[in-house]
Amino acid sequence: MNTKLIAGNWKMNGTAAALAEIAAMADAARTLGHVRVAVCPPATLIDRARSAAGEGPLIIGAQDAHAEPAGAFTGSVSVAMLADAGARLVIVGHSERRADCGETDAHVRAKAEAVLAAGLIAVVCVGETDAQRDAGDTLGVIERQLAGSLPDSAIGLAIAYEPVWAIGTGRTPTTLQVAEVHAAIRSRLVAHYGTTGTTTLILYGGSVKPSNAAELLQVANVDGALVGGASLTAADFLAIVRAA
Ligand code: PEP
Repeated sequence: MNTKLIAGNWKMNGTAAALAEIAAMADAARTLGHVRVAVCPPATLIDRARSAAGEGPLIIGAQDAHAEPAGAFTGSVSVAMLADAGARLVIVGHSERRADCGETDAHVRAKAEAVLAAGLIAVVCVGETDAQRDAGDTLGVIERQLAGSLPDSAIGLAIAYEPVWAIGTGRTPTTLQVAEVHAAIRSRLVAHYGTTGTTTLILYGGSVKPSNAAELLQVANVDGALVGGASLTAADFLAIVRAA
């Protein structure tokens, strides 16, 4: 069985005042050896989050990266810059970036390749909208996103299944719906990567909170969680980590 990974995505939240939450998460992570814990603050905080976390297993991550190593890309940050600041994991293809920044599967794939080439963990996000689920196209959407977004190698790769309609809404799929999609992702990973795909982490994301974490995390092929709102405070985030 995979060691579960619980990763927090702070999105565009957090200034220096929030570093105490990171320090508290880092303290707890030292005693929670059965689960890997990561937190992805905004890029401006990565360096200070790494310092606040100190020595220990808490992984500091980033929420996005540019696929190119350097150049005329105003406002963007490269994987090497993130690694230099202390990031060991990068989320790519979050639905908010796909929707708000026009990121395509090809962009997501290029970003994932850049993250893995640098030796960092890449968390590739996929997920259907409400309308796509209502149209009965959930598995088709996931299949197409994976076909376009998967990097060549699965070493260091994790997938996050995040139904768009569940993100920040308080709504979650049933455990049967989660199991169906995670099984389909597992099949696709095995078809793509062979036996390596049997152990690639598949995280569930979308309104995970302390009250539903245990139920979601026991579903077959759920190897962890990507947590947005409930990762902003150590109290809520650690309650989810303890449920893993
Ligand atoms: C996310 O944005 O990755 C996410 C899962 O958000 P939330 O937990 O707030 O739904």
